[in-house]
Amino acid sequence: MRGTGVILFLTLVLLSACCPLADVSVPTAASSPVPAAASTLTTQEAAFAELRERMVVETIERRGITDAEVLKAMRGVPRHLFVPEDEQGYAYGDHPLPIGYGQTISQPYIVALMTELLELKEGDTVLEVGTGSGYQAAILGEIPGIEVYTIEIIPELAKSARERLESLGYARIHCKEADGYYGWPEHAPFDAIIVTAAPDHIPQPLVDQLSEGGRMVIPVGPPGGYQTLWKLVKQPDGEVENYNMGGVAFVPLTGGDR
Ligand code: SAM
Repeated sequence: MRGTGVILFLTLVLLSACCPLADVSVPTAASSPVPAAASTLTTQEAAFAELRERMVVETIERRGITDAEVLKAMRGVPRHLFVPEDEQGYAYGDHPLPIGYGQTISQPYIVALMTELLELKEGDTVLEVGTGSGYQAAILGEIPGIEVYTIEIIPELAKSARERLESLGYARIHCKEADGYYGWPEHAPFDAIIVTAAPDHIPQPLVDQLSEGGRMVIPVGPPGGYQTLWKLVKQPDGEVENYNMGGVAFVPLTGGDR
């Protein structure tokens, strides 16, 4: 029943945007050489792929994201598989969605922006604090030649994200259940660190675990309100340059030194 609901929703969304009916009509068993169940699945995935393409064009490229690898990753990762089943029909809207335990999967544009700001290149190691659904980690995992480490503090989310990423074949993503405020010292230094929950100050352990020339992207501000997205770049002398990238709204970073 849920699968049928998703198909109906997707059909309505696509129709409402004036797509040709032929793009979304479900082939009948009589007209298709593949079994009906497989055919329905393929049609559903094709409809999601079309919504994903529109999301990238209309909310990510149009707002100035140009990094080819980031755009390719946003086109490649099936965001609907990272949200609860009853949210799948909304997976390609440009907004956060609930993933349980009071947490959210971030807005696609913000995921793309933060990933672009990391300026990733082949051979880099990246730490993500706040695995959540695993979607941001998967986007990082799509960038060629990047080793990804990701930490989640809520045990249930850490477990489900690990299982999801494994089932989708992301072998270069290493997951850990822990307090990410303290980073992952065994794998430091990191060329890039992305924090997807907001602390009220920049965690010193994360600054310490950034390599020379390393980039950190992190929202900082009071819990429950708006925060500032900062990009930090570590200089050869150990000093850190800070760049204000604008206002954002993230769930709070818990744990750490208060
Ligand atoms: N990046 C995630 C995704 O793609 O789905 C969304 C992250 S959600 C906005 C923030 C996540 O950070 C939540 O899952 C939350 O439990 C986690 N979190 C909060 N404080 C944390 C901490 N100290 N260490 C690790 N994870 C933390």
